Amino acid sequence: MAHVISQKCITEVYAACQQVCPADCMQYVAQLPGGYPASGQPMMVIDANECIDCGACKPECPVDAILPGTDFDAYWSQINANLGPAYKGQKAAPRVKNERPRRPDNQNRF
Ligand code: SF4
Ligand code: SF4
Repeated sequence: MAHVISQKCITEVYAACQQVCPADCMQYVAQLPGGYPASGQPMMVIDANECIDCGACKPECPVDAILPGTDFDAYWSQINANLGPAYKGQKAAPRVKNERPRRPDNQNRF
């Protein structure tokens, strides 16, 4: 099992999750590759090989983008599993956690 970052992270990338992960398994995808949803846009993914399912990241995400396991969304689980190892070592510059979300569909959380 592993935690999974879902589509709510696309363009947001607060990187609050990256700050707390003890296994350093959050990887920054600066531009989603062609063939993926929202190609060219940024998001974070979790390397499923490295995640220890500690749960530290989930409450940190301002837009609730993190799913607590692969059972919740097979599609995004596969995307995290594909891209996590490929982007190993890529880190994002964190945003301020109370900054308004960039996407209108995430703004109802604030
Ligand atoms: S805290 Fe949430 S929005 Fe920010 S990078 Fe992590 S998953 Fe994405
Ligand atoms: S569950 Fe723990 S190990 Fe897995 S991505 Fe979140 S903080 Fe990192």
